[in-house]
Amino acid sequence: MIRKPTIATFYNKKQVCFDLIMDQSYSKSPIKPYLLMERIQSRGLLQHFEIFSDFVPYEQDDFHAAHTEEYVSNVFNQTGNYNSNGIPWSVNLVESVRYTNSALYHAIKHSLAYPEQLCFAPVSGMHHATPRAGQGFCTFSGQAIASLKLFDELAVCGAWLDLDGHFGNSIEDTRSFAPRLDQAVPLDCNVNPFGMNADYVQNFREKLKPVRNRILNNQVHYVVFAHGADSHVDDDLGGQCDTEHWLQCADVFTHWVEEVSQELGKPLPVTLALFGGYRRDDYNIVLDLHLSSIERCRRLCGYSSF
Ligand SMILES: [Zn+2]
Repeated sequence: MIRKPTIATFYNKKQVCFDLIMDQSYSKSPIKPYLLMERIQSRGLLQHFEIFSDFVPYEQDDFHAAHTEEYVSNVFNQTGNYNSNGIPWSVNLVESVRYTNSALYHAIKHSLAYPEQLCFAPVSGMHHATPRAGQGFCTFSGQAIASLKLFDELAVCGAWLDLDGHFGNSIEDTRSFAPRLDQAVPLDCNVNPFGMNADYVQNFREKLKPVRNRILNNQVHYVVFAHGADSHVDDDLGGQCDTEHWLQCADVFTHWVEEVSQELGKPLPVTLALFGGYRRDDYNIVLDLHLSSIERCRRLCGYSSF
């Protein structure tokens, strides 16, 4: 089931924060969307990406879906626990997270409206945030917010295939705060594989089985593949998979999507996201891992390489 050749990419330079990041922040997540899009351009690959940049950013109120008004206010106004995300605060950081979180939501929404097009939100810095605080370089729970909004607006449910090297606690930590998240993202649909190399890949395969069943039973309507680069063995913070097995996860995912789409008789809505990746020696390795994963996922568009 071949999709459109271009990847619908929700990118606006406003989703990038440069202030204090390169010299004062361990995490480069706030600048990663820019660095990745520059890498795509410098490698002559931009024609494979259809850029959507005119999406509306979240307002402060949108974040209340998954966070207390106090925490959201703290982040916006540099008060209280505004620094719990571990990233240097700036006006531009707040502006950029309004865009990254909205980019993710709009990418998924596009995948639902146009399932024949692979979608991409070049974003990270979300999956450790909790209702009352940021955590682990993450400010707001972008996945929880997007899934709750889509559940409320379109009555659709999703699965998050979180292959970051670290467990994506945001969704689990938000369930008691926003109980309808149990429907928006069913309990077995926050997929975080564990193990090393072949065991990790096999664990991913196993965890896709209940997701497939839910899709075929019309209980899940979209998937997001967040192939974090910090699950690569050489990452400063990660280390589950060598390059072969890390890329094999993208192949497992695309084969699975093709099979499920065949069974559905229509393309399964798919969105790609970035999530983690940390290399002090050469950050381009992180960017190239993300690009290699996207290249594998382009198999869904009928291409085996860029
Ligand atoms: Zn991580």
